[in-house]
Amino acid sequence: MFIAHLPAGYIAGTLVERLAARFGYDTPRRLTAVTLLASVLPDFDLLWFYLVDQRQHLHHTYWTHIPVFWVALGIVAALIALAIRRRDALPYIGAVTLGTLLHIVLDTVAGGIHWLYPLSSVETRWVEVPSVYGWWIANFVLHWSFALELILLGIAIWLHPRFASRVIAFWRRSP
Ligand SMILES: [Zn+2]
Repeated sequence: MFIAHLPAGYIAGTLVERLAARFGYDTPRRLTAVTLLASVLPDFDLLWFYLVDQRQHLHHTYWTHIPVFWVALGIVAALIALAIRRRDALPYIGAVTLGTLLHIVLDTVAGGIHWLYPLSSVETRWVEVPSVYGWWIANFVLHWSFALELILLGIAIWLHPRFASRVIAFWRRSP
């Protein structure tokens, strides 16, 4: 996935914010920001991939792209928060877990993810993108699965309050 992680994070963050507001949480905007950041967090491993690992291993094999890592981290963090009586941290822990797992779900569309690790090293990929063009990025951007990224981008733009209100204002002005 190339361009849709942040838009998907924004969509998820908006849902989290509305849910948090419904439950009387007083700073739901912060949860949107945390979900947004978490939705791109796993790809910070690209720094390691390029600067340290010298592109020796696919970055989807790093722990940052292993689902069980984020699930385990979320459970441990939640247990610690409960043990030290900081229930107010739970929505943030949930937002990080949701954002990172959403990232990995979207990476599963065309990139391999080890969903069953450590039980199995099998790699899950929903769509096989054939290598047609010399420039590898063109293979993904010109594949039909890229439409999913454009749809997510479109939904995120639509959800953005200023953008949506401008479009509605434009329609109202139109004869
Ligand atoms: Zn990724």
